[in-house]
Amino acid sequence: MSGAEALRQGQEAGGPAQPLLQVRALKKHFPIRGGMLGRTVATVNAVDGVAFEVAKGETLGIVGESGCGKSTTARLLIRLIEPDSGEVRFAGQSVGSEIPVAELRHGVQMVFQDSFASLNPRLTIEDSIAFGPRVRGVAEAEAVHKAHDLLRRVGLDPAQFARRYPHELSGGQRQRVNIARALALAPRLLILDEPVSALDKSVEAQVLNLLVDLKQSLGLTYIFVSHDLNVVQYISDRVMVMYLGRVAEIGPVEAIYRDARHPYTRALLSAMPSMDPDRRTQEAPIAGDPPNPINPPSGCLFHTRCPYAEAVCQSTAPALAPVKDRHSAACHMEIAGSGHSKARPAA
Ligand code: SF4
Repeated sequence: MSGAEALRQGQEAGGPAQPLLQVRALKKHFPIRGGMLGRTVATVNAVDGVAFEVAKGETLGIVGESGCGKSTTARLLIRLIEPDSGEVRFAGQSVGSEIPVAELRHGVQMVFQDSFASLNPRLTIEDSIAFGPRVRGVAEAEAVHKAHDLLRRVGLDPAQFARRYPHELSGGQRQRVNIARALALAPRLLILDEPVSALDKSVEAQVLNLLVDLKQSLGLTYIFVSHDLNVVQYISDRVMVMYLGRVAEIGPVEAIYRDARHPYTRALLSAMPSMDPDRRTQEAPIAGDPPNPINPPSGCLFHTRCPYAEAVCQSTAPALAPVKDRHSAACHMEIAGSGHSKARPAA
């Protein structure tokens, strides 16, 4: 049986304990062209050796400042952008070799920030949702029935909304339609790229609650990309913090928000408003802008902004080192014998 056939039949290599998604050494460097001949004059290391896993049924939040590579990572996973190198395994099978990209997009769907640009303005809501199933050979009546069912699931009455066009809906309603459209091919993994960032706060809460309900009722797995630490804390089981195309820290949501080990994560969290005095961090808010990604710093990419930077930080890039159960940070202070004066003692 081919990888694609196995995937269609819900089978996967490695059995039920297999993570749904495994990402290894994923890289994407964008060339910057210049001069009369349009030669490559520099490169931006948008995603530079990112590795992580997502278990079935969990939500992984990906956070970081603008330009940290979180949205590029999301697009690489579903091959909207072709990676330079690295491997993505979905349900135990390698994308591109064991599973064709077209089959991957059956199992993985994406919802974007811009709810309007994501919908064809000339298609009714019903046709937008039914489009994917129709293309895959689902009969007309069944595709329409499915579209109405999905509209109900996302809280929109088909009698009221099915024949409307995208411009006749509010931003929150359009994002509900985008979620319904993404669910039309019965994916197992939804990649949500800033899905509530363009919405008002009250609508944001409604859409987040809808996502939580759908995840439970449909047994979905989410990757949730956002710059908003409050939103990520609310929705995530684990959180991955990115800085200049690399993973700075990854761990369970409680560990990241209560016991962050990377100075960058702590600085991000210190800028997050909290009413709870116990939750306020003593860390100074992050200083300055991120370095130019065309000419990134040597060693630890954060050393130009880090209050704990020492000589080793300038010369050597820290590996992502385990801190505790499923919690890792890329900082010399977490690596015994790294040469940093605050390095943890050897176990
Ligand atoms: Fe700061 Fe050094 Fe840790 Fe980088 S490795 S975060 S510069 S202490």
